[in-house]
Amino acid sequence: MDKATPKPDVFQANRDRAAPLLKQLKADGIGHMIGGETVPASSGETFDTASPIDNSVLAYVARGNANDIDHAAKAAQRAFPAWRDMPAAKRKKLLHRVADAIEARADDIAVLECIDTGQAYRFMAKAAIRAAENFRFFADKCTEARDGLNTPSDEHWNVSTRVPIGPVGVITPWNTPFMLSTWKIAPALAAGCTVVHKPAEWSPVTADLLAKLVKEAGVPDGVLNTVHGFGEEAGKALTEHPAIKAIAFVGETATGAAIMAQGAPTLKRVHFELGGKNPVIVFDDADLDRALDAVVFMIYSLNGERCTSSSRLLIQSSVADKFIEKLTARVKALKVGHPLDPATEVGPLIHERHLDKVCSYFDVARKDGATVAVGGKPYDGPGGGHYVQPTLVTGARADMRVAQDEVFGPFLTVIPFKDETDAIEIANSVRYGLTGYVWTGDMGRALRVADALEAGMIWLNSENVRHLPTPFGGMKASGIGRDGGDYSFEFYMETKHVSLARGTHKIQRLGL
Ligand code: NAD
Repeated sequence: MDKATPKPDVFQANRDRAAPLLKQLKADGIGHMIGGETVPASSGETFDTASPIDNSVLAYVARGNANDIDHAAKAAQRAFPAWRDMPAAKRKKLLHRVADAIEARADDIAVLECIDTGQAYRFMAKAAIRAAENFRFFADKCTEARDGLNTPSDEHWNVSTRVPIGPVGVITPWNTPFMLSTWKIAPALAAGCTVVHKPAEWSPVTADLLAKLVKEAGVPDGVLNTVHGFGEEAGKALTEHPAIKAIAFVGETATGAAIMAQGAPTLKRVHFELGGKNPVIVFDDADLDRALDAVVFMIYSLNGERCTSSSRLLIQSSVADKFIEKLTARVKALKVGHPLDPATEVGPLIHERHLDKVCSYFDVARKDGATVAVGGKPYDGPGGGHYVQPTLVTGARADMRVAQDEVFGPFLTVIPFKDETDAIEIANSVRYGLTGYVWTGDMGRALRVADALEAGMIWLNSENVRHLPTPFGGMKASGIGRDGGDYSFEFYMETKHVSLARGTHKIQRLGL
């Protein structure tokens, strides 16, 4: 850029973009999308969604109950046969059109997501593009969805194929809600399932937009239905509805357990992406500068409200002091601010209740005898919303609550370790098993530790980098099942076996 040209004021541009969108949102409110129609709650009740920046009400939202879920499930049931039987190439085209529609509104989605969730623009700017990629990736896989195996035997020609399981429920959380919802909805639609989506009550704004974009793209009515409302009301009813064949759920471990029980009488198939308390293990032979960048990024980006965040730093004692010194400086320098400001690295947390939960761990840390080295207080940010100081807790032991519980905020617990055996033992000493990150210059050790870690996803000398064909999911209390690539189809489809006799085998003759 020419020196004389002033830098574009992205913060102001974001505010200008958001203003008319917010006005419209407030005026229209948010209804359910059922059978292609935007409708109010059958009870007429609404709840409000407020911005974590300043607690201002963004919209009044239809409060769904079992009745609304029943309407949506029946709409999904009616739409299912035609969507299932649509030629894959046509379905592929429609899903690419959804991706086009998302890309066309990517900037609007970014600012709305920032305002509804408190996530910083620097991360949300790309969230809609990643959501569009989810649709493109699975659009291209539509033509493979029914693929199976050919396993001939002497007397039979055996083939397997896959068929979509039916209408499915998708229940999503409030962290990066737009991207996460598409990560579930895109493969379900590509498989030929119809969907009832119950977004999180704390972040309904972009879920509403997604439902509208899918309709505008020409996806038939009833293929994607969205019912807003509370977990114990609309969410519960969805998991219990007999027309819904499977539940794809992303959220807390305790909610996953409740959903499993709720879905048991109707034999729901479940896919769970749950909580995490993920270790990043840094050995003394690692590239410590790169490790430091990754450690800071993986817990303080996205406000630490990220299931794959590395919320436990396991640092080898021989380099601990030096590493913690540099880490402390970086955490102190993090920029907390307004989510629409491109300079902001940490925005306000989603909700007052979540802020209280995160802040409660400052005392937990102190009581357990750990040191709050940086942060440890709410932060007085622009708008006066739910800001918190990025926090670093040092001197922790593996059995402390700050080393065991998922805090789900910009909160890092540091635990020193002696050697490889010690590191593995500490890493595996939690009930979760979502991701693990290992930093070492010794490739043999990297692979040994990767093998020993109880986690569904391991990155060696890297932060979490998404690659859509790879399996995504957790072990232990972090989840059941895998997403990504063909793994998603395994969940949204039934495998069917077809055996054709060559006409040569002997059939037992009874009743002669
Ligand atoms: P949550 O479990 O409170 O809510 C998630 C969704 O479940 C919401 O839509 C909610 O309304 C609904 N719900 C709540 N109770 C329900 C019930 N009884 N029946 C049906 N639905 C119900 O989770 P949250 O606080 O919104 O999200 C944060 C959690 O999500 C964290 O634990 C985080 O680790 C987890 N998460 C996991 C992944 C992953 O991939 N493993 C990704 C993102 C978030």
